[in-house]
Amino acid sequence: MTSLVATGHPLQRAGAWAAAVIAERDDPSRVSVADLDTVSSILTADVLAAATAPKGSGRYDWWKVLFALYPNSKATHSKRSSDPDVLTPDIERLFAPDLPGAGPMRPCTFCAAGTAVVWAKSNLPLFDTSKALNTLPPGVPGWPVCRGCRIAMWALPYGAWVTAGSATVLSCEDRSAEREFARRNVRRARRVMQAGFTGLPAGTRPEFLVLTALRDATDGLCATTLWSFKNDNQEPWLRVTRTRRAIPAFLATVDGNAPLRRGWQLLSLSLNRYDDEGGIATSGASEAARLLFEAEDGRSRPLLGQLHRVLADADGAWSVTDREALVRLAFTYAEEVFGMETDLEPVATLIADWIARGTSPRGRLAEYRRAALSDYLLGSLLVQAYTRLQLDGNKTQLAGPELWKPLIRRQPRAWEQRMLLFAQVSVMLQQRGVPVGGKEPDPQQERAIQQLADQPAFAQIRGDEYDGYHDYETEQA
Ligand SMILES: [Zn+2]
Repeated sequence: MTSLVATGHPLQRAGAWAAAVIAERDDPSRVSVADLDTVSSILTADVLAAATAPKGSGRYDWWKVLFALYPNSKATHSKRSSDPDVLTPDIERLFAPDLPGAGPMRPCTFCAAGTAVVWAKSNLPLFDTSKALNTLPPGVPGWPVCRGCRIAMWALPYGAWVTAGSATVLSCEDRSAEREFARRNVRRARRVMQAGFTGLPAGTRPEFLVLTALRDATDGLCATTLWSFKNDNQEPWLRVTRTRRAIPAFLATVDGNAPLRRGWQLLSLSLNRYDDEGGIATSGASEAARLLFEAEDGRSRPLLGQLHRVLADADGAWSVTDREALVRLAFTYAEEVFGMETDLEPVATLIADWIARGTSPRGRLAEYRRAALSDYLLGSLLVQAYTRLQLDGNKTQLAGPELWKPLIRRQPRAWEQRMLLFAQVSVMLQQRGVPVGGKEPDPQQERAIQQLADQPAFAQIRGDEYDGYHDYETEQA
């Protein structure tokens, strides 16, 4: 019989993976009873250290994590004892083996194994709130939770991407990506306990960690779901975002292709936000990773939308090479992730010709920029361009209305097509020497890009995220 099962419950599952990583097993199913003893001693020691830590210490930051997940538990209660000896039995009891004859046996809420232990909601994150993932059946005194699942539910913060007030867990079709996500988070948790949240690089997000985990784990198809939540006494929330199944293949394509990698780095750099001292306040790499996730409530920023914003920016300062890289990234995403097959060249040529041959190309480009994403405005602009070029005695075959239709009809992916069209027109104009952006490329940015372009696109977090951790490991040993 297995002592630990990774179930379909996202929080239990993340905790089971964390317990496996802490026990140095490559899968939760390989965690033995002796491993559970080891993990429970580690959990107990860490919980006690956090619960009795002085304010402002790294360990106190870990207490904030526990408080965000289990706000009414013995470990986090405001009236808890500051004496570890008083607190120890309460914490040890959380992870103690089931005693035979301790009470009626019931199936575990998560894995259905028989257990006599019943837990109240205070030990279970996100239970019995308005955003609850589970509700208690009538007549049951609490949730039956077996030892493996009790340990998993408290190993959860190690396997989740935690902040001082929230946690994010991953479920994924690919077990190795789940393990990788848990492994990196366990290391990050150790880092928080050692140096607090201020010891971590600023502005990074779990989405980037998911991309690195996917990139390391799989090149194939794999859907992922990120569950972010806060178990606050006042305002608990749960946010669910997903990536499409083709994302790992897209990441592999980007990583293996220099212009695409450059496009990704440019996008990331454009999303960096700096604080007053010039340090990074928001990591562009993390923000770019976020664009690959779609929120269940529809409130997310799509990657193509952001690329359009970057390419259509009238003050943008992209060299031809950089614009080509960004445009190629947009087309690759549309093809690989949405399965779009597009040949926009004839229509793009029509618009580029019309802009380039105007007495004021700048004015016509501004007009196109305004019309680019609207089906109606783009339709009128195409009629205008087509007629104008015909009247001017255009020598070559012009793209006729049958080619514009998919772009200006209300049909799936027409919006994406209009963005790709703009991308292609902008690159054509720049190749012909028509000024598209407002400024010359900044040489300093050029150097930053050059440095980044030689690195894998989804790995730059590794260096700064985990530096110093090995020292910590040695110190502890
Ligand atoms: Zn269980």
